[in-house]
Amino acid sequence: MTKFIAIIGSGPAGFYAAETLLNSGEQLQVDMYERLPVPFGLVRHGVAPDHQKLKSVTAVFETIAAHPNFRFVGNVTVGKDVTFKELGAAYDAVIIATGAISDRKLGIPGEDLPGSVSATEFVSWYNGHPEFRNQTFDLSHPCAVVIGNGNVALDVSRILAKTPAELASSDICDHALTTLATSQVTDIIVVGRRGPLQASFSLRELREFGTLSDVEPVFDPAELDATDASAEELKAASRMLGILKEFAHPDAPRQAARRVHFRFLLSPLRIVGKDSAECVVFSRCRLEGLAFNRRAVPTENQNAIDAGLVLRSVGYRGHPLSGVPFDDVAGVIPSQQGRVTGPEGRPVPRLYAAGWIRRGPSGVIGTNRECATETAEVVLADLRAGSLFLSPELRLQLLSRLDASKAGAVDLAGWHRIDQMERKAGEACSKPREKITSVAEMLSVATAP
Ligand code: NAP
Repeated sequence: MTKFIAIIGSGPAGFYAAETLLNSGEQLQVDMYERLPVPFGLVRHGVAPDHQKLKSVTAVFETIAAHPNFRFVGNVTVGKDVTFKELGAAYDAVIIATGAISDRKLGIPGEDLPGSVSATEFVSWYNGHPEFRNQTFDLSHPCAVVIGNGNVALDVSRILAKTPAELASSDICDHALTTLATSQVTDIIVVGRRGPLQASFSLRELREFGTLSDVEPVFDPAELDATDASAEELKAASRMLGILKEFAHPDAPRQAARRVHFRFLLSPLRIVGKDSAECVVFSRCRLEGLAFNRRAVPTENQNAIDAGLVLRSVGYRGHPLSGVPFDDVAGVIPSQQGRVTGPEGRPVPRLYAAGWIRRGPSGVIGTNRECATETAEVVLADLRAGSLFLSPELRLQLLSRLDASKAGAVDLAGWHRIDQMERKAGEACSKPREKITSVAEMLSVATAP
């Protein structure tokens, strides 16, 4: 007898969980709920537009979606259009794969001044997320500070640094390309609170700065000397250091229009400005703790950097869902092997989590495959143990209510109409796609005869 599984969220974790379920040989139907009319979550709205190779994973997701027992239920917000209680009643199991859509806060004065924005907002803006497309960013000041040393910090810095010509062939949204073309930013200062050896960004992402057409990457080796690193740490990070040293002593110094400065050992203390951000004050840090476990300890020394735009890039954070247990400190849904656990640590029957909402916002797209596969295997184990139940009529009632509702759910065919329209619009300007960025327009394309 067919079992019915609902997956909430259509990013990598949701699709990888669906893949394991649908390839299990069990008789299953997987319905994937997504609040936007379009799928792919962070791959569409988070991965940098100029990193098309990373986005090509959507071809794998399309193959999973093509399975006859897969259904896309787009433009349906769980918690608003349908409650958890309803889903729980209609499905044998519910997997939450909603990712980490909020951002971590710095918790410093001035953080909320205009001009101080989270990198996640900036990313969502240039990637055309409908909720952020109308946001504005002041790019009139020559200096932008990016706080954080992860790959997102490098993504936003690279997008700020590239020329319009370099960005034109990406799938960056037209509104962002137009704004960036008028940017007056000449210096982008990427600031880590720890040293270069402790940075979270990847080699490839760092190396890319040396290949940009009109950018000079800048690094001061004194900030490495100040870290008092062990030989083991230096060895482990030798390739990264090699790149930074090239930035410090380039074979052929450039006269570039823009510079990206890699600064370290600076912890943000406050953001200062009258009506908007004008300057970030940092504490100079020293590192304490054992090798590979160093922490930044602020000293009395302060360092102020002027900037008209401050992008806070200190990590994503999961968002609580009404009626579902949530660990507010870690920003995740508590779980054991993917089984959601309640306040006493006991599994909540038939409720599961996968991806960033389960384990926090770390790792690359492929890391979610491992995590989601484990969750799906646990669902399958529970299903085989007979601990899941069945109520197909309630599922059908729920889906027909959603279909008939005012907003209208978008199915796979609807998404494919949007996809085709975007690709066609992209062809006209030699881009992979020109995204539709308004929900109303998405819906009119999805439901076009
Ligand atoms: P991340 O890798 O966790 O980096 C967060 C950064 O913020 C760290 O450098 C951290 O420093 C810093 N930070 C945290 N709290 C801070 C504070 N209070 N003050 C100053 N600095 C602070 O996060 P992310 O860049 O958002 O990336 C999320 C995940 O997506 C990562 O796994 C990343 O690799 C992945 N991603 C991958 C790609 C790619 O493959 N191209 C692109 C984008 C994102 P400490 O280390 O000192 O805590």
